[in-house]
Amino acid sequence: MQSPGRFWSFLFLRCPNCRQGHLFNSWIRWIQMNDHCSCCGLTFYPESGYFVGSIYINYGTTVAVVIVSLLVFRTVPERFQLVFFSCLAALTSLAFFRHSRSLWITIDYWINPWKPPELAGGACSEDRDRRED
Ligand SMILES: [Zn+2]
Repeated sequence: MQSPGRFWSFLFLRCPNCRQGHLFNSWIRWIQMNDHCSCCGLTFYPESGYFVGSIYINYGTTVAVVIVSLLVFRTVPERFQLVFFSCLAALTSLAFFRHSRSLWITIDYWINPWKPPELAGGACSEDRDRRED
């Protein structure tokens, strides 16, 4: 079976190397990112401050969404515009937080891949967990 593409791994928040392991733990702790891939062992934090670039992606996306919304929602009364667009910017940046990190690590790994540590077995531990249940 052909492995999923880079866009797929970005969109579904998967490891940029094996494209199977999850970047994030769960929807309950939605902001907490895994330290490494549970399938191939690739570290998701190759260096300190690694995800500063994702902040720029998130900021650019938020600005783009607010600018488009300013054009679309011109009918919002002026007295509500500051509150409306401030809330929209805050919600957009929160909503795109995971995908901005996923996009950053996907692009960076595509340009300059780093090696995962050697793992015994090589099978995804998520798959092993499911088989053991
Ligand atoms: Zn992986």
